[in-house]
Amino acid sequence: MKIARTIAEMKTLRRSLTGSVGFVPTMGYLHEGHLSLVKQARAENKTTVVSIFVNPTQFGPTEDYATYPRDPEHDLALLEKEKTDIAFIPSTDEMYPKGFNSWVEVKGITDRLEGACRPGHFKGVTTVVAKLFYIVEPTRAYFGQKDAQQALVIKKMVADLNMNLEIVVLPTVREKDGLAMSSRNTYLNPEERRAATILFKALLLARERWHQGETNAKSLRQEMISLIEKEPLAKIDYVSIADTETLEELSIIDRPALASLAVRIGKTRLIDNIKLE
Ligand code: AMP
Repeated sequence: MKIARTIAEMKTLRRSLTGSVGFVPTMGYLHEGHLSLVKQARAENKTTVVSIFVNPTQFGPTEDYATYPRDPEHDLALLEKEKTDIAFIPSTDEMYPKGFNSWVEVKGITDRLEGACRPGHFKGVTTVVAKLFYIVEPTRAYFGQKDAQQALVIKKMVADLNMNLEIVVLPTVREKDGLAMSSRNTYLNPEERRAATILFKALLLARERWHQGETNAKSLRQEMISLIEKEPLAKIDYVSIADTETLEELSIIDRPALASLAVRIGKTRLIDNIKLE
């Protein structure tokens, strides 16, 4: 595996490649969720590139940028094991040199859900992902359904700006008890880790009630909220049942829907979603 630590090094490596390039952007502290994207990228492309960059511009001022878990040596060992061809690990100064002042912003869809709770978050995401796409020039880039709104926002950016690549979205990888894998799960103490299963339980409840024929989205949201409120360590940011494409909240589930939620377990903010379709 080759390691590029500067943009110039990454671009030089890119110039030497022929054939398709699969790209997996990450913030590191890799788990099986990330590795599922790497495996698929490897299966579908001649060359696989994985970036590790904890992007400061997508964190709000009171969020966990400083404490976000980092373990680059372990990440590199995992990527080596997955036979990744190139790891791109730029520094913050490399990606945001002094005077940096250009931004990529998708409007509309970013106003809802995560965008509403985390102002500026998606502007940071689209800016860094656009930069990474210009640097790596992938044929395909791989994202997780775990961050469903992020995947929609990236697809919209790629379509609106005529970027020449395919976005592939892959299913959420979960722990045995259903908790969606996340680098942030490491923040949870044992009691919080047990309480965190409430997110997936609420999503399963939504799916089960919908399978039983419940199409009233308001009642469904209320049932999910009532279940989550039974968990004393959980504090709801939002519970949503929305159109899978526009993320507009539904009153009646008369089309493919996304049940999604953000819940704080102690100080840790977790998100998850499930499709109703
Ligand atoms: P992150 O390092 O959290 O920025 O995530 C990098 C990529 O991995 C994003 O496309 C995420 O959606 C994806 N990802 C994170 N967790 C999971 C998971 N549990 N299952 C599948 N993909 C995931």
